[in-house]
Amino acid sequence: MSSLLFATPKELTGWLAGLASGHRVLAPRQEGPSVVFRPRTAEELASADIDALLRRATASPKQAMLPQCETLVTFKSVKDAEDPSKLTTTLEAPIEAEPTVLFGGRPCDARGFVVLDRPYLEGKFKDPYYGARREATTIVTQACPSAFYSCFCNWVGGTPSDREGSDILFTAVEGGFVLEVVTEKGQALVEGAGFADASDKAAEVEAAHAAAAASLNPAPELSHVMEKVASRFTDTAFWDKETVKCLSCGACTYLCPTCQCFTITDEGSQLDGRRLRSWDSCMTPLFTMETSGHNPRPSKADRMRNRVSHKFSFYPERYNGFFSCVGCGRCVVSCPVSLDIRHMVQAAVEGATIEIKDEAPAKAPAAVAEAPEAKVREAAPEVKVPAEAAAPEPAVEAAPAEPAEAAAPAAAEKAAPAPKAQKSAPKTAPKSSTRSKAKKR
Ligand code: SF4
Ligand code: SF4
Repeated sequence: MSSLLFATPKELTGWLAGLASGHRVLAPRQEGPSVVFRPRTAEELASADIDALLRRATASPKQAMLPQCETLVTFKSVKDAEDPSKLTTTLEAPIEAEPTVLFGGRPCDARGFVVLDRPYLEGKFKDPYYGARREATTIVTQACPSAFYSCFCNWVGGTPSDREGSDILFTAVEGGFVLEVVTEKGQALVEGAGFADASDKAAEVEAAHAAAAASLNPAPELSHVMEKVASRFTDTAFWDKETVKCLSCGACTYLCPTCQCFTITDEGSQLDGRRLRSWDSCMTPLFTMETSGHNPRPSKADRMRNRVSHKFSFYPERYNGFFSCVGCGRCVVSCPVSLDIRHMVQAAVEGATIEIKDEAPAKAPAAVAEAPEAKVREAAPEVKVPAEAAAPEPAVEAAPAEPAEAAAPAAAEKAAPAPKAQKSAPKTAPKSSTRSKAKKR
């Protein structure tokens, strides 16, 4: 299924405002230095500044399916008046899954849900909480106009216009946006919207996608990354060296669209309370602490090895070569000591770190400069969108610039094809010592 529709900025925000009457609409919102996905009201959306609405979120949208903290079960026990040793217990498992539109994420964010779907929805034990919200959510993704210096979706099988995980993919073109309907869910969302046919803009969309792909740093040779990372499992010196600066703060995992660990706690009394699921992080020392006092991952190096290996070795080994990193770069941007997963992966593969440009060149290549809207959304927040855009949201603060955003490659550089992960199982990856407690993923 694929059809193209055209919407002006005003039509797009008007459509979202209309959807807000029957859906929870999650869209990026500036909050201090952060941009996070929040429920937006019809009034907010109707008057939203489209540039503000399309800012790249600093936090991933995984909370749409996996809230930071949720009640799994409530329990209430009543003692028998005659025999207090007898209890009558009532359990309730509320699942909150209202119809939701997740608007304005990027292709890597949408691909992140494809990563999460496998552990949460495949196999013997399916997660009904995640599953209900996934079912109730329609994902409307914006194709990236250009890459940030921290983006590397092209290393892990993605592109700035990847459709995987999205129900609708929209692309900025002259005067507005072209919406590509990808799934039936997406089709249902645009029924009755009144958008014009945009078949005649297919070439413009393709050019915008090509320009965005060209603005990425080229991908290195990673065809054997799964085996190479696995082969580092016992190389303690390697992980010690790569992790020496790490503060174990967990920012890289909390902001990641694919990190999926949680912990479970009970609160209340023995007779009346609830069981909660909350995000947890494998980068923190207590994550794997067992009741006995034994900790299978006591050092920073152990934990980093697990994080990187999960993304580039364990997960692809289990799921047919699909990486569990989508190259969004949030961990790169947010790490307080500037640890860069790209350097670690490359070092694991080649035994040496690579140079990744972290500053925009003085002059952008012609392909990027000509890309419709490419420079508008990422590199120059002060540039206004087409004239029909509504007034800016009064409460929204100016977006802080990310360091050296949207670094454009030298003109001769082209985005390299995504590396193919190896599908054969690595031979040297021990597993038993990396298992977390049963309550955690
Ligand atoms: S590991 Fe880093 S780059 Fe990869 S998906 Fe997570 S936050 Fe994004
Ligand atoms: S964000 Fe950086 S310092 Fe914090 S746990 Fe991750 S790698 Fe370590």
